Amino acid sequence: MPKPVIYWFRQDLRLADLPGLVAAAATGPVIPVFIWDENLGGEWCMGGASQWWLHHSLEQLGDDLEQLGSRLILRRGESCEQLELLLADTGADCIFASRQYQPWAGPLEAEVKAMAQRCGADFKRYAGTLLFEPESVRTGSGTPFKVFTPFWRACLKLDAPAAPAPVPEISAPDVWPSSEALAQWSLQPRKPDWAAGWSSLWQPGETGASQSLNGFLDGHVSDYGTGRDFPAQPNTSRLSPHLKFGELSPRQVWWAAQGLKQTHPEQGSSVDKFLSEIGWREFCNHLVTLFPEMPDQAFNGKFEYFPWRSEPHLISAWQQGMTGYPIVDAGMRELWQTGFMHNRVRMVVASFLTKHLLTHWRIGQQWFWDCLLDADLASNAYSWQWVGGSGADAAPYFRIFNPVAQGEKFDKSGAYTRRWVPELAELPDKFLHRPWEAPDLTLAAAGVELGRDYPKPIVDHREAREAALAAYGSLKTIAA
Ligand SMILES: Cc1cc2nc3c(=O)[nH]c(=O)nc-3n(C[C@H](O)[C@H](O)[C@H](O)COP(=O)(O)OP(=O)(O)OC[C@H]3O[C@@H](n4cnc5c(N)ncnc54)[C@H](O)[C@@H]3O)c2cc1C
Repeated sequence: MPKPVIYWFRQDLRLADLPGLVAAAATGPVIPVFIWDENLGGEWCMGGASQWWLHHSLEQLGDDLEQLGSRLILRRGESCEQLELLLADTGADCIFASRQYQPWAGPLEAEVKAMAQRCGADFKRYAGTLLFEPESVRTGSGTPFKVFTPFWRACLKLDAPAAPAPVPEISAPDVWPSSEALAQWSLQPRKPDWAAGWSSLWQPGETGASQSLNGFLDGHVSDYGTGRDFPAQPNTSRLSPHLKFGELSPRQVWWAAQGLKQTHPEQGSSVDKFLSEIGWREFCNHLVTLFPEMPDQAFNGKFEYFPWRSEPHLISAWQQGMTGYPIVDAGMRELWQTGFMHNRVRMVVASFLTKHLLTHWRIGQQWFWDCLLDADLASNAYSWQWVGGSGADAAPYFRIFNPVAQGEKFDKSGAYTRRWVPELAELPDKFLHRPWEAPDLTLAAAGVELGRDYPKPIVDHREAREAALAAYGSLKTIAA
């Protein structure tokens, strides 16, 4: 019998379309392994909400492997050390894995390769997380793209991504190494259990991922182009946590979407719009590979001199959804209660924090990192810098979202805001997004006393806008 090999799962928690697993399975017996390396990433080690998801996703992956006559071996500790122990325990002669793109992933992979070679084994790394590898997309002069539209145009000119690979047959080793118990890792919150009820909202794992993809393509994608900006409508895919944990590959999404275009050509433009959002995920991951400092430093160096403020009571009001601006508060409460926030509302709350409250984008980035189920180093950092004005290809700083206008435009009927800010549910539409303008009688009829049942605005929009523009203006005198 050939020696076994190790398949090292990371953020690729699936069995289908996993080129590294296919290659591993072709060599002989495979030992599937996940290592809970809780300090990996340092400041960017996995946040609380993501840990909840990870627990359930690993549970499902373990069950799926058992169905195939295999197992998921769980180990906790530093990745390279645990892999070395596993090589020694099992006599495996190769470690297979999918490439990851966080700034720490490349050095870790190099360390694992060197360790494996010292132990007389090998390390093999495969693509599987992106549609296009970062090195394969370049401008005509060979430099990386910093602007999305030409980037995505260039991607679409490359060879189409290969068709997804099926689940391989995985043979078991003669002897299994020991495994830890998932329950002992305490990935789920206990006291308090802030994730209570999340299991009815989300189905982590490969099955839930493909059900979400199919459900979206069978139904809501047709209105994606027009509906994706309206948070009360079910027109976005909610695939982001599945993609983040690799329960679904972007190739599977790509090919399923292309299939839909063939059978329903009339949905072509909506499908292309959806795929271009997958393109944004690619773009963010390409950028973080090329500019690994992106999560920590402003792309536009001038922003290192921006006169950020830090007022804990304002930050805390933002985090708790108590700013007095209903659409902002709805978004922040959706985030806390579900681990997710609609994209349009993410932009509104991020603009509010960085521009109305003049709070550093890193404060928001860190809060999202802990609270989002889809917290992704590249997309989160890129998006915060984009909204905050310091990013590559960023929104112009002077574009300051008016939270009242955003609410009235994208949640006109108030269904989203009323759901997450129920204390305002009885206010008429006219005042829902500007309750401080409602006559006393209207407020009383809706059972709202501002300052008691719902906060008065923590900042005045016009004054905050002027202050933000003045702060931005102060950068103009700084040399780039
Ligand atoms: C301040 C801020 C922070 C964000 N942080 C994250 C994050 O940590 N993780 C994350 O996955 N997305 C992040 N986004 C991007 C976007 O909001 C989410 O990807 C999207 O809301 C997920 O919902 P969906 O799956 O229904 O998206 P859909 O609209 O159905 O899009 C399909 C997929 O495309 C990708 N995608 C869509 N929009 C973007 C985008 N703007 N940037 C990158 N990828 C995108 C996601 O993988 C998404 O699942 C952030 C946006 C903002 C404004």
